[in-house]
Amino acid sequence: MTGTTTEHARIVIVGGGLEGLAVAWQLAERGETDVLVLERDTLCAGMTGKSSGIVRCHYGVPSLAAMAWYGVQVFTRAEEILGTDIGFRQTGYVVGVGENNVEPLHSNVEMHRALGVPVDLIDADAVRSLWPGIHLDDFTGFAYEPLGGHGDAYLTGMAYGARARALGVRIRQSNNVVRLVSDDVGAVRGVVCADGTEILCDTVVLATGVWSPALAATAGVPLPIRAQREQLVLVDQGEPTPDVPTFSDLVHLQYIRREPNGHLLVGNSDHSDPEIADPDAYLNRATEDFVETAIGKLDRILPGMPDPRLASSYAGCYDITPDYNPIIGPAPVEGLFLAVGFSGHGFKISPAVGRLAADLLLDGISSDPAVDGNEFRYSRFDEGKPLASLHPYAGAGEMR
Ligand SMILES: Cc1cc2nc3c(=O)[nH]c(=O)nc-3n(C[C@H](O)[C@H](O)[C@H](O)COP(=O)(O)OP(=O)(O)OC[C@H]3O[C@@H](n4cnc5c(N)ncnc54)[C@H](O)[C@@H]3O)c2cc1C
Repeated sequence: MTGTTTEHARIVIVGGGLEGLAVAWQLAERGETDVLVLERDTLCAGMTGKSSGIVRCHYGVPSLAAMAWYGVQVFTRAEEILGTDIGFRQTGYVVGVGENNVEPLHSNVEMHRALGVPVDLIDADAVRSLWPGIHLDDFTGFAYEPLGGHGDAYLTGMAYGARARALGVRIRQSNNVVRLVSDDVGAVRGVVCADGTEILCDTVVLATGVWSPALAATAGVPLPIRAQREQLVLVDQGEPTPDVPTFSDLVHLQYIRREPNGHLLVGNSDHSDPEIADPDAYLNRATEDFVETAIGKLDRILPGMPDPRLASSYAGCYDITPDYNPIIGPAPVEGLFLAVGFSGHGFKISPAVGRLAADLLLDGISSDPAVDGNEFRYSRFDEGKPLASLHPYAGAGEMR
């Protein structure tokens, strides 16, 4: 081992984004406060700040639906639980499918109901009453979650961090971890920071999102994670959009939410041809092609937009795994725990990610019978057992 040992913590969390801070918060709630979070930039300065913040329980993997449902319950009571407004807006959530996907829609809704999620199958008239003027000829079926909507991932992450700090967790920003420290038998024993400081601990939690593979490699752990660039556009319809539900369009493969100023945030759900990018050097705006496609799709469902124009755009990167689901659990070397690979849907499940990680770190088992902690294991890819939807949607399998 090299460097100067300046500190010891029971648990060091590398990465002060949404997931690292959720883990810190839930550990602290469980009474484990000998925790040090190391963030190389400022808190939530990574991909968390780019999140669209869509909140829905509509998953085909029951554990994920249960995790999202726990998330909805935490977000709904955020002021009481986290002591602050986290920007959750319960607009309701609608998912619309074409004829080919009606069967999985019904099966998924049945599964969600069994988990206690309030959700209804509704018809086009009911959707039109929620969103006057929406054009739905391309759709055959809809599900509606009245408690869904969208949140603010930055505010939420900062609230986790503030609560963790209030309970005794230490958080250091501007603290770049350059490598993990391993002992003679390969077990991880700590981290080394850019200034040469060595911090020893019982467990390192890796929560460094798209930047995780390089750091994990320093402990000899290969991570099957790549950065997938995603483009987002903000559309001004020409007049402010009224209060409408968040909408997942599984026919044209995009999602739409209303911004507080009445613009629409439009994101892509077509992952058939992912653009793999360098998370430190990618085009941080939408291309003309993307804007044209996104507005064309939007025009199919909102043909009456008075004077649509692009208000702004940006891009972010998902930390995708081969099955578009996270890795939450021990790494194949002792002393390292992974909370990585959230694949573009880590916001809504973040309260449950924190809870599951705390459960696994402190007890070795999930405390929620509806959430099988083992499903997110690192080894599932090598075992050839990717985590898959029970009722997949044709053309829109990922993140569902
Ligand atoms: C464009 C976009 C849209 C999304 N939309 C949604 C959505 O609608 N709904 C939903 O549920 N989810 C959504 N997500 C996913 C969700 O926002 C992410 O899963 C989540 O924010 C990721 O949090 P994280 O903590 O894993 O990563 P990050 O927020 O990226 O945090 C990782 C942190 O690690 C730090 N770090 C990296 N390397 C080091 C190092 N060596 N030393 C110290 N610190 C380091 C980084 O600076 C960063 O702050 C979206 C994501 C993106 C990118």
